[in-house]
This record gives sequence, C-alpha cells and structure tokens, in this order.
Amino acid sequence: MSSVLIVGGGVAGIQAALDLAEQGIDVYIVDKAPSVGGKMAYLDKTFPTLDCASCILAPKMAALLRYPNIKLIMNSEVQDVSGRAGNFKVKILKKPTYVDWSKCNGCGVCTEKCPTKVPNEYNMGLSQRRAIYIMFPQAVPKRAIIDAEHCMRLNPPPKAKEKAKGPLCGVCERNCPTKAIRYDQQPEILELNVSAVIVATGMELYDPRNLPELGYGKYQNVYTNLEFERLVSATGPTNGEIVRKSDGKHPKKIAWIQCVGSRDIRFNHYCSAYCCMAATKQAILAKEHLPEVQCTVYYMDIRAFGKGFNEFLERAKKEFGINYIRGKVVRIDEIPETKNLKIVYEDTAESYMKADEYDMVVLSVAITPNSKLPLPVELTKDGFIQLKDPYLDPVSTTVEGIFVVGAVAGAKDIPDSVTEASAAAARAALIAKRFSCPTPEVVK
Ligand SMILES: Cc1cc2nc3c(=O)[nH]c(=O)nc-3n(C[C@H](O)[C@H](O)[C@H](O)COP(=O)(O)OP(=O)(O)OC[C@H]3O[C@@H](n4cnc5c(N)ncnc54)[C@H](O)[C@@H]3O)c2cc1C
Repeated sequence: MSSVLIVGGGVAGIQAALDLAEQGIDVYIVDKAPSVGGKMAYLDKTFPTLDCASCILAPKMAALLRYPNIKLIMNSEVQDVSGRAGNFKVKILKKPTYVDWSKCNGCGVCTEKCPTKVPNEYNMGLSQRRAIYIMFPQAVPKRAIIDAEHCMRLNPPPKAKEKAKGPLCGVCERNCPTKAIRYDQQPEILELNVSAVIVATGMELYDPRNLPELGYGKYQNVYTNLEFERLVSATGPTNGEIVRKSDGKHPKKIAWIQCVGSRDIRFNHYCSAYCCMAATKQAILAKEHLPEVQCTVYYMDIRAFGKGFNEFLERAKKEFGINYIRGKVVRIDEIPETKNLKIVYEDTAESYMKADEYDMVVLSVAITPNSKLPLPVELTKDGFIQLKDPYLDPVSTTVEGIFVVGAVAGAKDIPDSVTEASAAAARAALIAKRFSCPTPEVVK
C-alpha cells in the first residue's frame, strides 16, 4: 500500500490521518510544532455547544499513537515536493530537539529542574516555561524539547561562557532518568515517496499591533482572543481565573471588539468566519466564571451562519445578558490611574460618537493562512491555497494529488475543517490505492 503525507497536524490534519490509517494506508504527519493539535489545543471550550475542546481533541490526538501506520514527524518542515500524483518525492527538514525521543518518556523531570525560565508560547506569554519543556500536558507525542535559543548549554551568555572552564549548565542531562539528552543532535533531511499530499497547515493570528489605536502591546489589559482563551482555561496561566494583567483583579466590565484586521480593506478584506461565535462563546464563559461581570460585544454585523449558531447567539443575549452594540471602535485610551480602558466608538445604529469604560478589552483578531510552503500549489490573492473548484471540488488544489483542508484553504471553524479533512482523505485514499495496485502486466 502506498502512503500519504499530511503537512500540518491540527484538527484537520489529525482527522485526515485517522481516516486514511483506518483504511490501512500509511500516513506521515509533518508538523513544525513539537506536538500535534494546532489551534484547537489552545481552546478552552468550543462553540456552539460549549464542549470542552481538549475532551474532544485529546482522544483524537491519542488515537494517532494507536495506529502503527501513522508516523509523526514533529519539529519538522517540508523543504521540497516534486513529482506527480501517485509518486511525489518529498524532502523534510527535521530540526533537532536535542532530546532522543526514542528514549524520552515524557516524565517532565528535566522541565522541573531546568534553571532557565522564558515566556510560555502555549499560554501566549502569560506564564513561563523552562528552556527544556513539553509543549503542553496533553501533548502528542509527549516528549521534551530544548529551546536552543534560551538553553544555557547550547547558547550560553557570552560573559558566562568566558568565565566558565568547561561546558555550562547540563542540569537536564544530569537529571534525565532515561539519559535522553543529546546536546549534539543535528538537523536531518528525510526523504519520502508518497502518492498524495494533504496540506493542513492552518492559520496564524493577525498581529493587532498593526492597529496601534487599539493599544494592544501598549496597554496591559488589552488581550487577543487567543490570550483570553488561555486565560479562561483551567490549564491556562491562572488555572482559569480571569484576572487583569495590571493588578490581578477580576474585571467587572469586559468588551470584545470584532473584525480586528478582518473585513478591513487596509488589512484583510475577508471575514475570518470564527470570531463572532468565538466572542459569543468567550463572553458566556466570562459570565460562567464571574457571574457579576458585564460583557459587551462591538460588532459590524453578526455572522451566525452555522448550525445552532443563531440559537447560541440568542442564548447569549437572553440567558447570559450579553450586550451587543453595532459599533465601529475608533480608538482605545488607557486611564493611567486605574489602567481601565476607554473605548471611543461610532454607534453605527444611531450614527453617533460615544465612549464607554471597561476594565478589560479582548480583540477578535483576523486569521491569516500558513501558506508559505515549498509546494507547487497556487495561492489566492489573500494568500489562502487556491482551490481547483470551490463549488464542485473544494478539497483539491490546482495540482493533481495535492489536497488542502482546514483554515489554510479559507477561514473556517472546526466542524468545517474536519468535514473537509474526511473528504480529502477519501480522495487521497483513491490515489494511494490506485498506485498500490499491481498493473495488469505484473498480474500476468
Ligand atoms: C481564539 C479562537 C477561538 C476559536 N474558537 C473556536 C470554537 O469554539 N469552535 C470552532 O469550531 N472553531 C474555533 N476556532 C477556529 C479553530 O481554531 C480552527 O477552525 C481550527 O483550528 C482549524 O484547524 P486547522 O487544522 O485547519 O489549523 P490549525 O489549528 O491552525 O493547525 C495547523 C497545524 O499546522 C502546523 N503547521 C503550520 N505551518 C506549518 C508548516 N509550514 N509545516 C508544518 N506544519 C505546519 C501547525 O503547527 C498546526 O499544528 C477558534 C479560533 C481562535 C483563534
């Protein structure tokens, strides 16, 4: 049986891998992160059902390990793809983790002993991790990785290096019970032959510092929605307690600002598709955590297009008292004494300039596609991967045998991403099976 390469192990890539593996097809998942999971692994709950995100995702991630025909190639990126459907040649750069993953058992002793603390990306910099770390507690594979930039041994500060007689630190090596630390690990190039490729590299979030009038990065109590997702999560930096960065107090009034970087001809003209429901979800979660908090969503128009979305919105308004204002936020000013935030906005329903004060603001930021890949596929003018036919063939790229799923094909939520993943897996399986069959001459 021939094999399929999946680039990106977010929820879309995971679903495609499981569908293919179930049919007996060999699957390689290449992900640049040390764990699969993608953005869904950062979420607390999911709209519109408010199911716990990791309770849905973690079993799927763990299932990858149960299939001997799924190979996870983590901390790696595709460097080149050549050939054609049925016979693609792929070069992969496997970056060093400085830990022998065949020996590491994910016990985490190294991560407790390491003396160097740096901002934790998984908690969006709202907490710290060590220079050797496991990406998050439910990581798959659950393996430690050394962040070479911050490791005292691999990248010692010049003065300390001068003073030291021998190599610095080495705490993780001394404490690792399975002797898995490999400071001398080098990058590797892997070469694979696959029948089909599924691109599932998902999305990044737009940097709201490009809109300085909103004060992100300048005012402590202005957050992105992914930061809020970590803040409200039980596995997050405050164990789920919603507190302000400036003083550690619970906010009494929180505002969500929609379409930050989306539907704006200066930045991205497309709708990011997930944010109206994500803000509604987050406002409900805030009310569940802090029943007294007042929540307001500033929107251009609410897009509640999916199954159960409109009912979710109605529930937010009626059951939780979430306030929705059709308004365009012009700027946010910080009140220096309290670190509260004054939102100046045009109430577009009344055509009137207004202002209101909040003690926390959450920006619903646009998504941008992770599509800068060394693949022969075409891109749309917005940078998403071009579909062959968005109506009748919505998972095929313009290259036969290369499929695309999830947010890198266009902004979308989890249900649409996994639906596409199953569709692409079915299409890729056809190619893999066709090219694994013996030709008639061989049969004779
Ligand atoms: C704040 C927020 C809240 C949200 N809430 C919800 C919700 O409640 N419900 C819902 O349905 N949706 C929600 N979404 C949307 C949801 O996160 C996306 O629909 C989903 O993550 C898309 O999955 P994906 O697999 O396509 O991409 P991603 O989750 O982005 O995964 C992509 C994977 O590809 C990897 N990758 C990227 N580039 C490369 C590369 N060059 N090489 C190798 N690997 C690469 C990444 O490391 C990652 O593992 C939310 C999004 C945000 C930002």
